[in-house]
Amino acid sequence: MSALREQVRAFASAAESALEAAPDEATAARLALELLASEDLFKHAVSVPGGDPVPVAALCDVRYELARSSGMLDVMFAMQGLGTCPLALGGSPDQCEGVLPGVLAGTDVAAFALTETEAGSDLSGVSTRAEATSGGWVLNGHKTFISNATLADVYTVLARTAGEPGDKEGLSMFLVRGDAPGIRVEGFEVMAPHPIGDVYFSDVELGAGALIGDEGAGMALALGTLGHFRTSVAAAACGMARRALDESLNHLRTRQQFGRPLSSFQGLRMDLAEMDTRLRAAELLVHEAAEAVGRGKTAVCEVARAKLFATETAGWICDRAVQHLGGLGVKRGQIVERLYREVRALRIYEGTSEVQKLILAKAALEDADS
Ligand SMILES: Cc1cc2nc3c(=O)[nH]c(=O)nc-3n(C[C@H](O)[C@H](O)[C@H](O)COP(=O)(O)OP(=O)(O)OC[C@H]3O[C@@H](n4cnc5c(N)ncnc54)[C@H](O)[C@@H]3O)c2cc1C
Repeated sequence: MSALREQVRAFASAAESALEAAPDEATAARLALELLASEDLFKHAVSVPGGDPVPVAALCDVRYELARSSGMLDVMFAMQGLGTCPLALGGSPDQCEGVLPGVLAGTDVAAFALTETEAGSDLSGVSTRAEATSGGWVLNGHKTFISNATLADVYTVLARTAGEPGDKEGLSMFLVRGDAPGIRVEGFEVMAPHPIGDVYFSDVELGAGALIGDEGAGMALALGTLGHFRTSVAAAACGMARRALDESLNHLRTRQQFGRPLSSFQGLRMDLAEMDTRLRAAELLVHEAAEAVGRGKTAVCEVARAKLFATETAGWICDRAVQHLGGLGVKRGQIVERLYREVRALRIYEGTSEVQKLILAKAALEDADS
């Protein structure tokens, strides 16, 4: 194990029980931010322009170990990077200097706002609109499923500056302060703790300096950000699966039924072998994708394979682990029960499994045609 993974494993293991004991989601999220900042981990998520981008391999190592102990630690770590990645890719020095130090220190919270009720897998449906004014822009629209919506000090927002919903062109990325007049946030709950909500923009006035990169570059900045982070979702899934397998092993070795440890029954041993092998395959795909992105390759297929296989596999492994614990597997407070809920969303956000399949099938068919 790398020194970074060892450091993060020790840190996350020590933080786990305090996070689980937090009285509510908002307190847990704030505590996670504080702990991550005190360990100086955000430097592995937040890229600074002019410097090298944060290596995807390090991002994956950190997320694997955080997710192994706490979904909340993983989300709060990843979102600081995801929310600011458009700045690293196309932000001006002024934008970066104004935002990145606070996000790196964990004093400011970042969010990344693409999704709308009519624009999920297909971002060309974005209808949030930024109209040019004499002094800058006015933003109107509604984003949904925005992680950190309820906490964010700064959003990167995909908005239409030309064309109509359905057009792939005409989208631009904006930097929006969370306290700007005209922003309203409504939080909601998902099946595992995760600060998230709807964000409504009503005549939000933005200065000319709010546009990130060029007008019309929004889709490229959004896809560039997802391309940089998607492999790390796969790594987080592997971390959760590793923990679930460890919990299974522990339980099957100690729980006795029919006068023998459960681990002596062949049916369960077959499961353990499958879980071990599928997890290893997922880890190798993550490694391959991280290496490819690290070499500066576009690596769309390597990344899609890792995201698809690791998140689906982790879902299956967490499900088997719940089964191995019997009734305890669904009891609140059990680690596998938590993992089962935490791992589910990873097959949906940052490109669903079906979207990864569309990417892979398109490439395979193009290869076959050439
Ligand atoms: C916990 C969580 C956190 C999130 N955080 C953020 C965030 O911070 N910022 C943000 O912008 N968004 C965020 N999202 C939104 C997420 O990115 C979207 O939910 C995701 O992109 C899917 O969009 P959708 O929900 O509209 O589903 P849809 O696009 O409506 O898809 C519904 C189903 O149809 C399938 N489908 C769609 N098109 C096809 C097709 N062509 N072929 C086959 N199947 C297809 C999908 O795979 C899915 O199974 C988050 C979501 C969750 C659950």
